[in-house]
Amino acid sequence: METGQIAEKMPTARMLDVLVVDDERSILGVAREIIGEYGHRVWVAGNGADALLHLESEKADLIITDIMMPGMDGIELCRRIRAMQPSMPLAIMTGYSNRELLRQAEDLGILECLRKPFKACDMMAVVNRVAQQPSL
Ligand SMILES: [Mg+2]
Repeated sequence: METGQIAEKMPTARMLDVLVVDDERSILGVAREIIGEYGHRVWVAGNGADALLHLESEKADLIITDIMMPGMDGIELCRRIRAMQPSMPLAIMTGYSNRELLRQAEDLGILECLRKPFKACDMMAVVNRVAQQPSL
């Protein structure tokens, strides 16, 4: 049976709306390609303000944001999202290991951190962990 085969391939995963935020366009392109390939819907924003604007009109199941961005940094963005949607799964990406920023992320309950440069499988591991959680 065809449906049986599909169910076997993806026993628990669900399709997610993933918002990726980064001031580097190349990262947005890579994320769109990697995550989109697995059938998830990928939205991108080049800064925190655009990300917040996006969330006013669209739902998201996971937000992956860069930390170092001009204007609003990723930690401030996460703080604002937490205030509006406390249970939103959040993940951060960073090329720096700034202990203070990482501590602030931990304080916000952000457990997922992608170190740049990351591999496709690292990014998908984050997406899959969220996809396998029951829908809220
Ligand atoms: Mg950046």
